[in-house]
Amino acid sequence: MNTRYRKTIIAGNWKMNKTPTEAKSLINEIKNSVGRVRWCEVVLCVPYIAIPTAVKLAKGSRIVIGAQNVHHEASGAYTGEISAAMLKDAGCKYVIVGHSERRQYFGETDAQVNAKTKAALAAGLRPIVCIGETLAEREAGITLDVITLQLHAALSGVDADSIRKVVIAYEPVWAIGTGKTATTEQAAEVNNHIRTLIRKRYGAKYGRAISILYGGSMNPSNAHELLAQLDIDGGLIGGASLKSDDLTAIVKASAQ
Ligand code: PEP
Repeated sequence: MNTRYRKTIIAGNWKMNKTPTEAKSLINEIKNSVGRVRWCEVVLCVPYIAIPTAVKLAKGSRIVIGAQNVHHEASGAYTGEISAAMLKDAGCKYVIVGHSERRQYFGETDAQVNAKTKAALAAGLRPIVCIGETLAEREAGITLDVITLQLHAALSGVDADSIRKVVIAYEPVWAIGTGKTATTEQAAEVNNHIRTLIRKRYGAKYGRAISILYGGSMNPSNAHELLAQLDIDGGLIGGASLKSDDLTAIVKASAQ
């Protein structure tokens, strides 16, 4: 829910989908439908190779471009990797950090997520830091403990001045790409817990100002109710961000 304190963000995570040619037509469709919205920031986190096309097409609209991952070192012998400075120079404003698919399939640790968060901030990018529990952790009743540990680990060494640039995305692992969405109560409880942790760590001003998103099978049918919650300031959207009609409906649902 938008408040006068913080920005509503609707971020699409395209994952490993769309060639640069396909990206071009999808961005044009999205631009035609929501390229002028004023109540939220629409972020498209596209594959690395589509970033130049995406940045060019988004110019002059309200859409901004992000990446889906970043290496934590500034430069060097890391074959196949991309630095934060490269993303910034290419025109990205955001980068997703610590997505559960990176943690699950590429073994990303909390320490790496922290290093990536700091590298993004140092380069002038806004990191979208993803945290969330597995189904086993939820069933064991330790969701809030897991969230607390992941959040503190990701933000280790991030000072108050930098926290203003950070976006947190609560993404229960069991809800990503599965069609299962957290209930409104579950999502609202965790997002509220995250805001409380930020407030305790950085003070009330920063707790009020930070945008905390929900991600996990958000779609046009459930977006309105989720986005109406006081502590849900937007969405990180996978599957539905690949269809311009669905993304448009979610962007419209965020105007409340
Ligand atoms: C995501 O990739 O962050 C995500 C939430 O995916 P989906 O919306 O497909 O569950």
